[in-house]
Order: sequence, then C-alpha cells, then structure tokens
Amino acid sequence: MLTYNYRNSTTLFAPSPDTYWGQFDEISKYNVHLNYFERMWAAWYAFMGNDVLATGIMSFVMHELVYFGRSLPWMIIDRIPSFNKYKIQNQKVPTAREQWNCAKLVLLSHFTVELPQIWFFHPMAQYFGLATGVPFPSLLKMAYQIAIFFVLEDTWHYWSHRALHWGPLYKNIHKIHHQYSAPFGLAAEYASPIEVMILGLGTVGSPILWCAVTKDLHILTMYVWIVLRLFQAIDAHSGYEFPWSLHHFLPFWAGADHHDTHHERFIGNYSSSFRWWDYVLDTESGPEAAKRRRERKAMKERKAMKEQKAQ
Ligand SMILES: [Zn+2]
Ligand SMILES: [Zn+2]
Repeated sequence: MLTYNYRNSTTLFAPSPDTYWGQFDEISKYNVHLNYFERMWAAWYAFMGNDVLATGIMSFVMHELVYFGRSLPWMIIDRIPSFNKYKIQNQKVPTAREQWNCAKLVLLSHFTVELPQIWFFHPMAQYFGLATGVPFPSLLKMAYQIAIFFVLEDTWHYWSHRALHWGPLYKNIHKIHHQYSAPFGLAAEYASPIEVMILGLGTVGSPILWCAVTKDLHILTMYVWIVLRLFQAIDAHSGYEFPWSLHHFLPFWAGADHHDTHHERFIGNYSSSFRWWDYVLDTESGPEAAKRRRERKAMKERKAMKEQKAQ
C-alpha cells in the first residue's frame, strides 16, 4: 500500500493518476472491497476517461489476441508430424503459404469490417443497459447466462448457416468460407464481410437480446462469452479430433468432428456448438449419418411391406 501523497511527490517513480498504474493505486486506496481484476478494470476506464474508446480498444485487442493466440497452437500442431494421426483429413495439412494467405484476409476484414463495429459496441451496450462498472457479477450468474447464449447462438447459427447454403446466397456470400475443404484454426473467420455480420449477429445479438429482456447483464460476461465462442469456432475449424475431445464427454457438443465434415462434404452439420438441431431436423452429415438414414429408410419399407401383407 502506498502511503505517500504522490500528487506532491518529487520522487521520479511515484505513480501519478495520469498513468494507468497511478489510477490503479488511487482506486485501490479507496476501494479495498474490490478484487485485483476489478481494480484493473476500473483503473482502465478511469485512465481512458472515455468509455467508448475504453470499451472499443479493449474489445478489439481482446479479439485479436484471442483469435491469433488460439490459432497459434493449431499452427504449431500442424508442423508436428506425430499429431498427424489425429488430423481428421490427415492427407490435407495446410501449407504455411495457405495459412499466411488466410491470415491476410482475416486481418483485412478485422481492420475494415470489425474495427468500426467494435467502435459502436459501447454506445449499443449502453443503449441496452449493459453494466460496465464494478463489482463484477458472481461466477454462477456469468455461467448460466453464458450457457443460455450458447443455446441462442447455436440456434441462430443453424438457421442462418443453413440459409447461406441456398444457391444464390452460397454463390455470393458463403462460398468464400468454403474455400478450405479441410479447415484449420485460422480459417474460422475466413469469410465474406457480409457473412461475418450475419453470423456475428448471433454472437453479439444473443446477449443483447437477453439484456433487453432481463436488464441484467454485465459487459464482462459478454466478453467471457465472446472469448469462449471464439475458442469454440477456432477449435471447430482446427481439423483435429482427439480421444479427449469435448464431444466424447458431452455427446451433444459439436466440435471439430462435426464441422470438419461440413467443410469436407458441403452439406449438413449446419450448427455451431451443439448437435441437436442437425439431429432433430435430419441434416446430419457424414457416413455414419448416411448409414443411419439408410437404416431408417429400410425399416420404414419393411414396415410398409408388413402392413401391405396384413391387408
Ligand atoms: Zn457452410
Ligand atoms: Zn466453417
């Protein structure tokens, strides 16, 4: 704890409120009930003195760090031959050039399409009444709200992605995302700017809808949700299926096993996080789903024959 009055201090290293850590110390002095992370958060907003910029910069930096940070381990794994046995389409490991070309388009779209959108984030959040202050909501509240967002986003994703596979929409918008029939982590956001907006609406719109109805959402919960959704999207495109992949423990979780097949076959498996929409609406893709479909058809035919004989 700092005890001197740094406003009048002549010590060179004394923090001043003009710096981020100066703000942090000032806030710490009068808000001992806040945890370290909450103080860092409050100091950031106090230091910036402009909430729109504070939220905008934080969102953009977070998105870039998470997107490329999460893609990097997959790029390294692609270069390690012993991981090849876990690659779903193991004859198709992306080349460094392919990854670089992909990264260029993703970066271009982040700076041209997403940066301005992120700038509108704070005004929109304020309009819908998202809380930005401290203290933060409890972990339990964050967890159940995020679980709801996963379900809402998955539903939006299923229907809009399925619509994007309709001829004219596919040709003009969604085709870009399907350039890679064997996807890799970085390719998660390799898509037309229009597609980024349509599918992004599920990610941003789900919490906004929740907040408009309940008036109870903290922007931090939204950040944690977006980070988890980015992890989900990048991992689903990784191209790797492990014995320890999440869907082995949560059978309704989609994962790479589900989305890789979508890229390979161009049809079916439209949802993002869960398997239930494709299961219920019979749009599952891949040889196993085809086998199940054939079995169901044969069973129906047998049943019809039996009924005919009985008549
Ligand atoms: Zn698709
Ligand atoms: Zn994809």
